[in-house]
Amino acid sequence: MITELETSAANCHPASARDYARVEELRALQLARLQAVVDRSWNRVRLFRERMDERSLAPADIRSLADIAKLPFTQKSDLRDTYPFGLFASPMKDVVRLHASSGTTGKPIVVAYTQEDVNIWTSAIVRCLAGCGLDRGDVIQVAYGYGLFTGGLGAHYGAESLGATVVPASGGHADRQIMLLKDFGVTAMCCTPTYFLHLIERAAEMGIDIRELPLRAGIFGAEPWSEAMRQRIEKLNGVEAFDIYGLSEIIGPGVGCECRRHQGLHILEDLFFPEIVDPATGAPLPDGEMGELVLTTLSKQAMPMIRYRTRDITAILTGRCDCGRTTRRIARIGRRSDDMLIIRGVNVFPSQVETALLEVEGTLPHYQILLTREHGLDQMEVRVEVTPQMFEDKIGALQELNQRLQAALDHVLGIRVRVTLAEPHSIERSEGKAKRVIDRRTS
Ligand SMILES: [Zn+2]
Repeated sequence: MITELETSAANCHPASARDYARVEELRALQLARLQAVVDRSWNRVRLFRERMDERSLAPADIRSLADIAKLPFTQKSDLRDTYPFGLFASPMKDVVRLHASSGTTGKPIVVAYTQEDVNIWTSAIVRCLAGCGLDRGDVIQVAYGYGLFTGGLGAHYGAESLGATVVPASGGHADRQIMLLKDFGVTAMCCTPTYFLHLIERAAEMGIDIRELPLRAGIFGAEPWSEAMRQRIEKLNGVEAFDIYGLSEIIGPGVGCECRRHQGLHILEDLFFPEIVDPATGAPLPDGEMGELVLTTLSKQAMPMIRYRTRDITAILTGRCDCGRTTRRIARIGRRSDDMLIIRGVNVFPSQVETALLEVEGTLPHYQILLTREHGLDQMEVRVEVTPQMFEDKIGALQELNQRLQAALDHVLGIRVRVTLAEPHSIERSEGKAKRVIDRRTS
């Protein structure tokens, strides 16, 4: 059950002790681990060794944490180009698990784990869940997909190791999810935030009020979501919504997570070293500045990742979190550099649209962005669902709502967009990551 806010290492979950380590100890550990992982990759991964050779670099040149900036980046294309096993640093006899991306855009990427990697991943999830105030006695429903995707099994092993009761629901089958949620007394739900929205909507149709169930925490990840979305979820359902971050290339979910203070996501820094770089030039940026998150795995054996370009845009937050953890935090990730839309020369991120929409009462967080090109000019239309009450209201109310949405979007985006109000339930619900953008522009 969720207990009092933890305030120090003394009363934290035993697995979380590392989160409260003294900063000097943490930095020393990071350096030792960085040197070890560079050494391992240099000896075992040909692509990494070639890139080090190109720069006339050897593992011995990494003498401080700042020296990490000398190392070459790794990109998603490197994983595709070496498909399937080209970046492995362990022989297959030591690999106990493979995961892979869905491969909807070309070849999938494959990631590997030794038993120790799986153990460390599990401990990372334990620390994340404990930071959300979960423990033995909690009943955790995992509604991430089980399978090649890292979400389901990653959350599963961590929740089980925490000592919680796990309901391995996997994705899909909304009605069954809601039945389990209710009948099993589920206290925490792990899924994407958009899938959770879908579930609460469906629950209401089934006559079930989520607020009357024991459910009190949602651990949401696998897609960017806004602070406005969190507030909407918490207000509608009385659950405390946590943002968990991870990516398969690094380990899966569990790279970082919010604590109960909700002041950004703590990175598990003894396991993953974060940097922020300028997405255009790759130059390192100081803490506090927005840029692209770059991660280095500090303990992974089967597939170490050195300076992996995540494409996620965030900043390392300065200052200490009130919870007492010493690990650095990143700001919520609202956008990816890949998500950026260029509309009539202006940069637009779907998360900005979400934030603008959720500021206006009477809308639901279900929306779609439709891009077309008319007479050579980009047109952006935002389709947004309105609440059933609003839809039954007089036509004048809808027109006024449309104007308010238009004004909110103009203000946030700085470009003129077309707003279309859609009936409740007319926008397709997602069982995983939501499809927000439909681009019908042809060049
Ligand atoms: Zn904290």
